[in-house]
Amino acid sequence: RLSHASGNVVTGKIKKETKKAYFDFKGNMLDPMTGIVTTIPVSIKHSLQHEKLHQAGRIFENSGFNTFEGSENPELLIITTSICDLYAKEAVDVLKLDNKVAVLKLGTTWPLPSKLVQNKIQKAGAILFVEEIQPFIEENIKVLSAGAPYKFGEKTYFGKQSGHIPMIGELNPDLIIKALQQIFNLEYQFFSNSYKKAADKAVENCLPEREIAFCPGCPHRASFFTINKVLRLNNQDGFTCGDIGCYSLGILPGGFSTIKTLHAMGSGTGIASGFGRFSQFGMTQPVISVCGDSTFFHSAIPPLVNAVHNESNLTMVILDNSGTAMTGFQPHPGLLTGTRGEPAPGVDIADVCRAIGARTKICDPFDLEKTEKNLLEFIEKNRGVNVLILKQICALSPEKKGSKPFNMSIDEDKCIGEECGCNKICTRVFSCPALIWNQEKNSALINDILCTGCGVCAEICPADAILREKI
Ligand code: SF4
Ligand code: SF4
Repeated sequence: RLSHASGNVVTGKIKKETKKAYFDFKGNMLDPMTGIVTTIPVSIKHSLQHEKLHQAGRIFENSGFNTFEGSENPELLIITTSICDLYAKEAVDVLKLDNKVAVLKLGTTWPLPSKLVQNKIQKAGAILFVEEIQPFIEENIKVLSAGAPYKFGEKTYFGKQSGHIPMIGELNPDLIIKALQQIFNLEYQFFSNSYKKAADKAVENCLPEREIAFCPGCPHRASFFTINKVLRLNNQDGFTCGDIGCYSLGILPGGFSTIKTLHAMGSGTGIASGFGRFSQFGMTQPVISVCGDSTFFHSAIPPLVNAVHNESNLTMVILDNSGTAMTGFQPHPGLLTGTRGEPAPGVDIADVCRAIGARTKICDPFDLEKTEKNLLEFIEKNRGVNVLILKQICALSPEKKGSKPFNMSIDEDKCIGEECGCNKICTRVFSCPALIWNQEKNSALINDILCTGCGVCAEICPADAILREKI
């Protein structure tokens, strides 16, 4: 979660590098600094690796990344790492257990600083491991203690393996409070009953029900709208394999429930490529895969190569919003800026796809008609590997934010609401959060503050009641 962001930082003085980069390969073959870089001879390199690990372990014993807070002889020692350190400290604070509980935060988790760990465990009554995902520290410290029981002493260990910390999901302070309550047999109520009742009531009465949806003006909404429409027009039970990015929302009603498989990055086209070979077993359903521009460079090129090489039948739709939107607009090789914002040569996605051997077209997903025509053409032929690049910048991208190409409004006299073919297709089906239903006037309404003026909703209204005026 912490890495899902980018932002400005104030740097200190940046050291000017005086050394010239030089690859020194002329030294002794076994010297890792000047010899050739390879894993052979394996046993010697393996022993060097172990030597390095020992050395790192020795350095970690006194590393400032490992911190200890609390009494030297606590009733309970929490051993933790990462953000769980903050959760643990908050839980100790809430339960006012500072005089009984100490917290050892390990910033260097491998190799473990075994002497530091042993020293702290020796003086503690019991141990609670607080860590996310696998019980890594827990298992490794237990192994250490089993190897030298006389040094660690007889201790009770709590953690994931004892069931005090959940094995699945992310942690939070409440979960640590629960574990401490169990260990110390404490009564603690997170919220009073009256507070809970009032909070539930507030949620029920004050917050409108909302589905998870794409942002106002998001090009992915338009893309999925068209993909969905084309699959219905084609009427062959075609389906879409999804990938990882904002557009994974295509699996939910907000994305018209378009995505039918969703796994790891790059998997969409890999899976689609497999489905695209099933024609030999009589499968006639058109297969679409979607991936973003960043995912394309990260991990969708190899499956595209495989699809072409294996003569698969599929249409890959690249939802190119010119950025890594979901994680904070980090640059990728398709952009004209590098990691530090400097100009950089962009790699053209269409050129790459054509070079691989895929029939490739590009269009703007806000141009619903053209997108529909191109996609329908591809899936109706349902032969070979096709790529449709839907290029439109993310509504939240720094280049686009604040700019509004169209002023949008509703012609209330023209709006026919429930009669408009799909019962308020704009607010109920297309569901841009900036489109709302005005109960009093019995007409659609555009929320000017939310609307980015992308203009695409004007294309979906069958009554021409959504008006766009170029700014
Ligand atoms: S604005 Fe158009 S699409 Fe929306 S409810 Fe009215 S007629 Fe239907
Ligand atoms: S123009 Fe229409 S689709 Fe685009 S942000 Fe505004 S209301 Fe939403």
